[in-house]
Amino acid sequence: MSVLDLQRLRAEGQAFMEAISRETYLAYAGLKKTAELQPIYRKYDRVLGREALELTLDAFRSALDKSDDQRSAQALLEWEIESQAAKPLAALDEREIEWENTAAIRSPDGRVIQYQAAPIEIANTKDRALRLAIDAERTKLVRKEHAPLRLERLQREKEYIESLGIAKDYNSSFEAVTNISLSVLAASCEQFLRDTEAMWDDTLAQVLKSSLGIKPSMAKRSDALALFRASEYDDAFPGNEMESAVRRQVSEMGIDATAKGRIIFDVGEREGKRSRAFCSPVRVPDEVYLVLRPHGGQSDYNTFLHELGHALHFGYASADYPFEFRWLGDNSVTEAYAMLFDHRMQDKGWLARYTRLGQNRVPRFLRTAGIEELHFLRRYTAKLLYERAMYSGEVPWSELPDVYVSLLSNATGFEYDAADAFVDVDPRYYSARYLRAWQLQSVLNEQLTKRFDIDWYRNPSAGPWMVQELFAQGQRENADEIASRAGADQLSFQPLIRKIEGLLEA
Ligand SMILES: [Zn+2]
Repeated sequence: MSVLDLQRLRAEGQAFMEAISRETYLAYAGLKKTAELQPIYRKYDRVLGREALELTLDAFRSALDKSDDQRSAQALLEWEIESQAAKPLAALDEREIEWENTAAIRSPDGRVIQYQAAPIEIANTKDRALRLAIDAERTKLVRKEHAPLRLERLQREKEYIESLGIAKDYNSSFEAVTNISLSVLAASCEQFLRDTEAMWDDTLAQVLKSSLGIKPSMAKRSDALALFRASEYDDAFPGNEMESAVRRQVSEMGIDATAKGRIIFDVGEREGKRSRAFCSPVRVPDEVYLVLRPHGGQSDYNTFLHELGHALHFGYASADYPFEFRWLGDNSVTEAYAMLFDHRMQDKGWLARYTRLGQNRVPRFLRTAGIEELHFLRRYTAKLLYERAMYSGEVPWSELPDVYVSLLSNATGFEYDAADAFVDVDPRYYSARYLRAWQLQSVLNEQLTKRFDIDWYRNPSAGPWMVQELFAQGQRENADEIASRAGADQLSFQPLIRKIEGLLEA
């Protein structure tokens, strides 16, 4: 067999990613009962061997600072470590996916609800007693069957990363290969939670009373699902108009929403489909799936816009870029493009033009959007703090559920359940990518507004600019570099706080 060099690693790595992506896409879209991952890992054994790891480590350590070689080596190393860690867990992942696709709970009113559909069911149940009872059944099943699977995965992943000896522990290994400082990010999360605490307490008490008729001391996490489902606006966000309305917006911006057919929309109801929408880049840029299982109303518009941002990013990536710039890199970037689109749901001009809200209901809806934004930011900042405690190894696994409940309940004002402590985790600090994306999104929105005006989303010059300056670049640059190219000193929560204050006054 030939010697492995970076050129071969790229070619085989891309083939491996395509195979894994296709398999998970089919399983998550409900088109296949489970994902057969192990045969793929066996087939691409060489990409994930010791030799490949050494090769990427060497390239990373010898590349010149801030050079394209360094970007490339960093992306390849991060991906190599992540895939190496995933390989021994493939059997566990197959088991989990199959479990998730077949598990069901019995609702107190006698109906059988697929586990995947439980969050949709909870969000749509207006009778509070029934809602809590359905969630109690979900929690029972999580505690008994799902949480142990996830706990084992998290423990084994942590052990594996630490065994590679990249740095002294999991957290410092993450920092070393990503250049993201967890301590700086955690400090800014704590600051954000302090800065917005009084604002959140007041707002939450009001909205719980007016929308759900309950006191803050009673609020549970399942109430949050119902609250942000905001079903009173359903008539303004008809499901059958969603795709065409958003496609019209993208074409008014001067680009094609399907990237000339490379993006495929799958937004219908199907049993076995994940309740959480996703975008699957099976071949970048040539074959990108946007998959959404309808919940109804505004939340579908939100997730559709979000996933469309990802899809456009992948679908318009430069075909002649190397594998690592098209596929890999800092996912804060793709999440920022996704959020740039989903934040149109906080944009009064956009709402008036592409939904059925009408001018007179826009202000009230903006306030709802502001409440939702503040809630999600408080939830994600708390998640980052929790996940940092989890991966630090300083808190025993058995005590983590209590830490989870206390951090998440305090930050959001909704009482969380200890059963979810290992299920409600975005592995490998994906929460850090989301938080950085939130920050980058506000920088980009400002840049687009300066260049193409407040209604950039319908300026026919904005789309082509976005394709060329942002999407085509894949994730060659990280979120900090893109922010500084857009003229921002650094990524921060301050612009988000100002935006939220404005929305809440609407
Ligand atoms: Zn996303």
